This record gives sequence, C-alpha cells and structure tokens, in this order.
Amino acid sequence: MRITFCGVRGSTPAPGADYARYGGNTSCVAVAHSSSGSQSCNTGAPVLLLDAGTGLGGVTGLLGGDPFHGTILLTHLHWDHCLGLPFFRGGDRDDARVALLLPDQGGPDQGGPDQGEPSQGGEASAGSTGAERLLTRVMSPPFFPITPRQLRGDWTFGAVSPGQFKAEGFTVEAREIPHKGGRTLGYRVSDGHRVLAYVTDHCPTALGPGADGLGAYHEAVLDLAAGADLLVHDAQLVAEEVPAEAGFGHAAAEYAVGLALRAGARRVALFHHKPSRTDDQLDALACRFADAPLPVLVAAEGLTVTL
Ligand SMILES: [Zn+2]
Ligand SMILES: [Zn+2]
Repeated sequence: MRITFCGVRGSTPAPGADYARYGGNTSCVAVAHSSSGSQSCNTGAPVLLLDAGTGLGGVTGLLGGDPFHGTILLTHLHWDHCLGLPFFRGGDRDDARVALLLPDQGGPDQGGPDQGEPSQGGEASAGSTGAERLLTRVMSPPFFPITPRQLRGDWTFGAVSPGQFKAEGFTVEAREIPHKGGRTLGYRVSDGHRVLAYVTDHCPTALGPGADGLGAYHEAVLDLAAGADLLVHDAQLVAEEVPAEAGFGHAAAEYAVGLALRAGARRVALFHHKPSRTDDQLDALACRFADAPLPVLVAAEGLTVTL
C-alpha cells in the first residue's frame, strides 16, 4: 500500500511562505496499491482518496495524465474536507469514474437511503441519492456555480454507515468517532497485508478526559488503530492547547501518539495541522517526539509512505 499526503492542513488552507514546506492545502490522502499488490487495480495510480480538501487538486499530478478511476471516501462534510471536489481535474473529465462516499447523516436528504425523489429544494437531479442531495447543499448556486452532478465523467454518490465494506480492492472498516457538527467516521483500510488507520477530526475529550487529560482512549478509535502499520491522526492541537481549544472538536498530537502506543500501531503520522502552525513550529513538533517509543512523523504535503 502506498500513501501520499496531498493535503495535511486542517480547517482552512494556509498559504504563504511560513507554510510552504509542510504545505497549506487541506485534508486529502491518496492510497494506491503497491506494484506487487493486487492485480485487479491500476497498479501504481491512487484509487482510494481519503477526504477531498484542497489537497485533492494535487492528486491529478499523481495520475500521469490519466483520468481518475476510483473512490473518494469522506470522513465528514466540513468545508476543509470537501472544498477540493470542484477543482479535481483528474476526476472532472469525461473519461473519469468516481464513486464518492460520505457518512450517512440520517434521513433521506442527509445521506441516507435513496428515496428516488429529488430534494424539496430541487437542486439535485431527479433520481439522485440522499448522499448527492446532501453534497448539493454545500455545492450549488448561490454558494458555488455548479452542482456535483455537473462534474464531468461518471460520478456516483453514496452514503457510508459504520461497518465494513470493500472499495477498490481494499477492505474498509468505518467507525463513528466524536467530532463536532455532523457525523464523522474514522476509517481502517486494509489490502490484506498492511493496514492504514485514518482518524482525522477527532475530539476524544468529548468522551471524557481519559488517563492523561487529553481525551478518552475509547473503543471505536482503539479498534480502528489496533496494530495498524500507520495511524494518520488529528494533531490540530498540542497538549497545552487542549484546555482552551478542544471544544472546537480536535485532538492533541500527544493524544495521537498515546493512542498509537495503546493500540499497538507501528507508526503515527501527525495530520490536520492547525492553519496557523508555521513550518518552524511543525519542526518543533517533530522534535517533541524525537525520543518517542515509536516513529512519529509530521505529515507534509507531497510525502509518500509505503507500507
Ligand atoms: Zn477538518
Ligand atoms: Zn471537521
């Protein structure tokens, strides 16, 4: 399994010289089968995209001029996780095939089961799924010039509930995790050999202070991260920011490392950096964990990790 970080920032893009090395684009992680892996998929090209923040634009460059054929899996629908959708040139072309999956928010217009009817607002096309209608709420006039259905290529829209499913030759386990404002899922992605746990936008303090005051090490997240080869986790905060800022819905870097240790993960990538966190501050964050009992990397845009 090959993982490329295409956007590592949280909440809003962070342009400017102080953010150039780690990158300012919001959440998007591209997953490809290793060349020695499954024979059934486009070997080498990313086929599974986790979140569609502004980093999604960078996936086009990984496709070698080919259209995207694969699945985009959203953890939730906050702007920083879907803002890149209309600007994904590799997916917005006539020969693209894109299955977009987002967390079921409950109810027919919230990502739930297809009712076979357009929404009351009439913005989504007749026959659209609840997932498409939900996405159309954030991507349609007057907020944006086009709807999801107007993206070129073969796009389908579906909802995901907690549980296990197959996508692009991967087995994916979805679990609900506490965040803020809408249902959020964490994902555990396996190719049968290696496991990636992707847990971004996670507010463990919502379930209590936990053993170290940084939030509960709860069953859902321990299951997602159990024995993972790589845990990609929310590190919007550092420990000393938790008392004042955890209410915004995020976790501390120290929690991410604590979770990896408790769950037996082999490596952790700190992800979803606070938009104001400069490159120098992220270097300092890496230094905090230089002596950690497991490898801790600070995710940077363009970084590829092979599991
Ligand atoms: Zn976010
Ligand atoms: Zn969020």
